[in-house]
Amino acid sequence: MAQASLWRTALANFEQAADLLAGEVSPAALDRLRHPRERIELSLSPQLADGVPHVFRAFIVRHSDALGPAKGGIRMTDSVTLDDVTGLAMEMTWKCALIGVPFGGGKAGIVADPRRLGAADSEVVLRSFAHNATRHIGPQVYVPAPDMGTTEAGMGYIKDTLSFAAGLATTRGCFVTGKPVILGGIPGRREATGRGVAVTAAEALRDTGIAVEGATVILQGFGNVGAHAASIMASTGMRVLGVADLLGAVWNADGLDVEALVAHAARTGSVDGFDGGEAADPTELLTRPCDVLVPAAAANQLTAENAPAIQARIVAEGANGPTTPEADEILAERDILVVPDILCNAGGVFVSYLEFTQETQQEQMTATEVRRRLTRRMTERYGAARDLARRRSLSMRRAAMVKAVGTACEALAARGNLP
Ligand code: NAD
Repeated sequence: MAQASLWRTALANFEQAADLLAGEVSPAALDRLRHPRERIELSLSPQLADGVPHVFRAFIVRHSDALGPAKGGIRMTDSVTLDDVTGLAMEMTWKCALIGVPFGGGKAGIVADPRRLGAADSEVVLRSFAHNATRHIGPQVYVPAPDMGTTEAGMGYIKDTLSFAAGLATTRGCFVTGKPVILGGIPGRREATGRGVAVTAAEALRDTGIAVEGATVILQGFGNVGAHAASIMASTGMRVLGVADLLGAVWNADGLDVEALVAHAARTGSVDGFDGGEAADPTELLTRPCDVLVPAAAANQLTAENAPAIQARIVAEGANGPTTPEADEILAERDILVVPDILCNAGGVFVSYLEFTQETQQEQMTATEVRRRLTRRMTERYGAARDLARRRSLSMRRAAMVKAVGTACEALAARGNLP
């Protein structure tokens, strides 16, 4: 079967929600949301250290600004496509609507492999992107953040490049979130997505009648999302039995020492070779029995092939689009509770919103305040989606989508029609 593009998955999820909303919202509003508002393709030609000319492709997609300026991360991988960025931008529209922040959906992609480039050339490519995208980035247009292949440091370089272009010491208003705290970032942003995953997984456990204390967890991906989710889940009493990443997997039936694993991965770049457990097959690991499976790596990891073998009670989608539409049907039939990405991993964009308000209002928020507001918002929005799912006998994904798409339609209706 052809690999599902993130755009195909996003559109399939949207069409299901559109069918469920038929008669409740205007077909014209649905049609506006079916089509991305703006898709921009750039070519970058930065001067790298090797002195050889290079050209990198980059994309920016603003799916909808019904609720506010486009918000969404910059993905820097050698395989990112315009279709993927479009799908991710659409998902951001729903995520922002669902979590209740005044942003629309956007996303950017740079076709480059930061590991192969190394830190110095990656910085140059990112600066070249910011320079070429100056007209497309800003607090009233599109506000980027980190995603796969980009980091907090990268957001600092973008802020610096934009300030330099404007001839100012700093940007006025918030041009980018997820940046270092010293440059106006917010404490707790780095761990926010993982914390949101942990909070919603705990809610799902309670709903399923499983005690949080002692609940078993398997994660795929041990980067920003996976590693923080694992640490926070372990700190709330869950037992992390297995973790897989691109280079290997590790398993301990008694529970891994997550802090030691974090230190090992920071030192070696992978969970592979960790001596606090036994090596495992990263693909097979996903099908071992556990209470919560957290795909927190790439898209399309749960497919029609492996979904029948999943033995988790709950799937908490840390990654964007980890479940294909076919796998989603299979998991629903098998009564496995899927906490959908637009809810489960929305903690990052919620804290980005706090960073945005902090910077535009020149305030300062403490880590404790950020954590408290994040936990409260994730719990509230999980509860709202769960209640709707029960009321209308829908899966959590469909309920979350109905809420999100319905909210975006409401905003479009309130804005009226341009001539
Ligand atoms: P990251 O680059 O920090 O980490 C990715 C991890 O996944 C690494 O451990 C890598 O080895 C592993 N991985 C990648 N492909 C894999 C594969 N095929 N099999 C097994 N492991 C694989 O990325 P991240 O920021 O943690 O993002 C992970 C996912 O979460 C992405 O889908 C991203 O879009 C999504 N997400 C991230 C954030 C955020 O705040 N960083 C917010 C929302 C959603």
